Amino acid sequence: MADIIQLLPDHVANQIAAGEVVQRPASVVKELLENAIDADATEIKLIVKDAGKTLIQVIDNGKGMSDTDARLSFERHATSKIREAQDLFQLNTKGFRGEALASIAAIAHVDLKTKLKEQELGSHIEIEGSTVKQQEVVVTPSGTSIAVKNLFFNIPARRNFLKSDTVEFRHITDEFHRVALAHPSIAFTFYHNGSELFNLPPENYRQRIVHIFGPKTNEKLVPVKEDTEVLKLSGFVGKPEFAKKSKTEQFFFVNDRFIKSAYLNHAVSAAFEGLMKEGYHPSYFLHLSVDPKTIDINIHPTKTEIKFDDEHTLYAILRSAIKHSLGQFNIAPVLDFEQQSQLDTPYNYKNKTAKAPAIEVDRDFNPFKDETSNFKGSSAIGFKKKQEQSWESLYVGLNDNENNGQVPENIKDYTVESEVETGHLFNGTPVETKKTTFQLQQKYIISTIKSGLVMIDQNRAHQRILYENYLKQLTLKEATSQQLLFPLKLQFSQRELTMLDQMQADLEHTGFVFSKEEPQRLVITGVPVGVSESEVSIILDQLLSDMDNDIPDANFSATDLLAKSMAKSLSIKNGQYLTAEAQEHLVNQLFACKEPNISPTNRPTFITMSVEDLEKRFM
Ligand code: ADP
Ligand code: MG
Repeated sequence: MADIIQLLPDHVANQIAAGEVVQRPASVVKELLENAIDADATEIKLIVKDAGKTLIQVIDNGKGMSDTDARLSFERHATSKIREAQDLFQLNTKGFRGEALASIAAIAHVDLKTKLKEQELGSHIEIEGSTVKQQEVVVTPSGTSIAVKNLFFNIPARRNFLKSDTVEFRHITDEFHRVALAHPSIAFTFYHNGSELFNLPPENYRQRIVHIFGPKTNEKLVPVKEDTEVLKLSGFVGKPEFAKKSKTEQFFFVNDRFIKSAYLNHAVSAAFEGLMKEGYHPSYFLHLSVDPKTIDINIHPTKTEIKFDDEHTLYAILRSAIKHSLGQFNIAPVLDFEQQSQLDTPYNYKNKTAKAPAIEVDRDFNPFKDETSNFKGSSAIGFKKKQEQSWESLYVGLNDNENNGQVPENIKDYTVESEVETGHLFNGTPVETKKTTFQLQQKYIISTIKSGLVMIDQNRAHQRILYENYLKQLTLKEATSQQLLFPLKLQFSQRELTMLDQMQADLEHTGFVFSKEEPQRLVITGVPVGVSESEVSIILDQLLSDMDNDIPDANFSATDLLAKSMAKSLSIKNGQYLTAEAQEHLVNQLFACKEPNISPTNRPTFITMSVEDLEKRFM
């Protein structure tokens, strides 16, 4: 058989490599920003159109490239950053693989203009799908401008695979945040579809965080600092009371590179132990500086995962440094005294007081002893007495024959009581008493139906009711708004504002009326009927966290997400006491729903138990 192995042509190899490096427009943003930083730029401009699908351009004032370098930079494994394998262990640059430009050029139209400081003229190169279309001498400022257009133009499958602009844009913003947070001394501007989203001057780290995440961030930051031989740690953690449900404000930078590390994240969480409600996550912006020799960045093409030589030590240092900061800034003690009960106990136990177990054991009870003497011996009243009586009744039942059907005096109450109970279970029709529902553990509503019992999860049921209600309002656009006497002003980060912007029309259909105000504020003048002012920020925070968490896919509907999110925020929670009327109302409303049996997140809202089931349990 003839030889069949061939070397792949460069442009094919590049396309394959591109699959690893460039997953989406945000990956291009990351690579280009990193190249600008590696070129020692002090000012970097990012221009994006249509979430990067049409254009991604990065302009820097860095060192630029010579004619030859400009051409070479698009070759695979062409890099100025390392020369030999040894250099991998003393990396001070973001890039080193020499793959990014080659990969990007393989799958897009690239336009590069670059000039060295000491030269008069620069060079201009146009490349489409790895083919150089043009190279010429141009007049251009010192530094580099790279424009990437029509990403994935030659791989339709990849292009079609891209998510909505909303989602892709969010990834780009995330990438921009990471780079901008890693380099507060570099000035960044960011334009999307012609409007300026960020204009960040060179500043200190705290200022940079506040600039990105909004003025309200300032008061929540607690500085963290620790200098040891193996690790220099600096940055901030968020005070526990500002913790969020989403994990969007969690940043580790190792030697100025954003990384993800579940292990280190655990160290931070461990430091916050006992200070935070379940389901909430601390914010952190932490810079770790370690000897490049002790890490390996080469394990992942996008370089967001790295390997540390001594993870355990880093873990310990991180945890204790954060604990120390929280203590020093009086956060831990304050919480210990004032908020402990709210923060430390699970949500549904919040409003409960401690109770002794309801069943008391009668230590004197002896089933072999003569019945009557046993009762005489007991002086307990109320519940305890009843308890004994029912205990007794178990034995009496067995002795029925012996007693010739005679029920002792003290058992009569019990039998009468239970007759009422069994009466309506077996008649199959609701009894004509005032109370048709019963709340169990402030969590379940129990009621009778023809066939037996129904047990309803109060939170899920209410979510279903509200969800259908909001969905209707949103589609019919029929909601009424109630005007606030004094407008409510809430601070948000730029990113959050953009997200809320996308939801504005939908939010208005539920009854929200709001506008934006500088700097990064939402002015709310109207809220949905039935929503109180204090609930507004809960609703919006929940919405933002939901938008972050269920990254919408193909069948995503903003309306649906909003209806779900509002239902979640405003629903009756577990642990909430409900009056008999409220219970009944909830049951009636639930069964008037279109899909009463599942919650908006597809979980059962109630379960039933038929009389037969019950009878089986009693066999
Ligand atoms: P890497 O960054 O891993 O070296 P890239 O493909 O990203 O690989 O870039 C290749 C080379 O092109 C870099 O090593 C650098 O010399 C040069 N280069 C890329 N972008 C710039 C820029 N903005 N300014 C100056 N040089 C650049
Ligand atoms: Mg690079």
